Amino acid sequence: MTVLLRPDLGALPLYQQLPSTARVQLSNNETAFPPLPRVAAALTEGLAHINRYPPVSPHAVATHLAGHLRVPAGSVAVGAGSATLLLQLMQAVVHGPSSIVYAWRSFEAYPILVRVAGAEPRPVPLTGDLVHDLDAMLAAVTPTTRMIIVCNPNNPTGTALHRDAFAKFLAAVPEHVVVVLDEAYHEFVTDPDVPDGLELVREAAGRGNLVSLRTFSKAYGLAGLRIGYCAGPIDLIQAVTKVGVPFSVSTLAETAALISLDSAEELAERCRLVRTERDRVGAALHALGHAFVPSQGNFLWLPLADRAAEFAAHSMSDGVMVRPFAGEGVRVTIGSPADNDAFLAVARTFV
Ligand code: PMP
Repeated sequence: MTVLLRPDLGALPLYQQLPSTARVQLSNNETAFPPLPRVAAALTEGLAHINRYPPVSPHAVATHLAGHLRVPAGSVAVGAGSATLLLQLMQAVVHGPSSIVYAWRSFEAYPILVRVAGAEPRPVPLTGDLVHDLDAMLAAVTPTTRMIIVCNPNNPTGTALHRDAFAKFLAAVPEHVVVVLDEAYHEFVTDPDVPDGLELVREAAGRGNLVSLRTFSKAYGLAGLRIGYCAGPIDLIQAVTKVGVPFSVSTLAETAALISLDSAEELAERCRLVRTERDRVGAALHALGHAFVPSQGNFLWLPLADRAAEFAAHSMSDGVMVRPFAGEGVRVTIGSPADNDAFLAVARTFV
């Protein structure tokens, strides 16, 4: 006798993460900075209480965030990372025959989460300029579409949509379809024309169909603690909270997030450094004759096509781990200045 598994799981790929043994880790879009001293101190103190359960929702962070972000009370949900929250968002809307539209290539977890939620993935190819093809995404909407995910800036290409194009798109999406604006990298944006999803959620005042999905994993440097949040229409946020597993956000993650929100200036300075390094690495790649896509995230995309795997292997042979997408390109995270120098050294010797 074998257990009866969901038949659709057979076709489900495992989310792949390369083993992290490299001298220089530039494959996961993490921050290279150590935890803020105040966060580290609070976590040490918090260890004394881990025999107790964390509070169930509404999380202190969600309540605090609604005030901090100036959105109506009840418009924010917190989860164990934004990937977990994205699954909760899907679970809140997927029922009966359902499909979810997203751009491709984009965050690799999307097709997996869509299938786990029991929906049909509807990937829509990026344009030749590697940006979301919003017209084609609209054309992919059918009566079964429950959600559209827009990754802005897009992982792994670093490209970002502009405010006007996104507003026009949003106005054309049927009102019952949730639009998730995945803004995991928003804090690294420098282009003033890129929309701020939280501003749009603020304007909607607790209604509408737009959700801004954010994370403490990137700019806030808490990837290992697993905490993210989303802001959107109150009825949807309530449903997202309902489908969440009780106690899945740990006390330590909540503590670190609350202190981080109170350390805005220090974190903004770190983001400025990442953006400066992004410009420096871009200029150096250009000087070396390497093509790359100008990025609004904490990473750069090198469209190496069928030399992507070769580049990653060359880089790894010198202990620098980047993320290859076979046949397409390589994504390299902007790390510390020393990490970036190590990456530029391997780029220099790749001929
Ligand atoms: N969205 C995007 C676009 C990402 O690139 C990532 C992580 N790589 C996530 C969401 C998930 O982040 P987390 O679950 O750590 O918040």
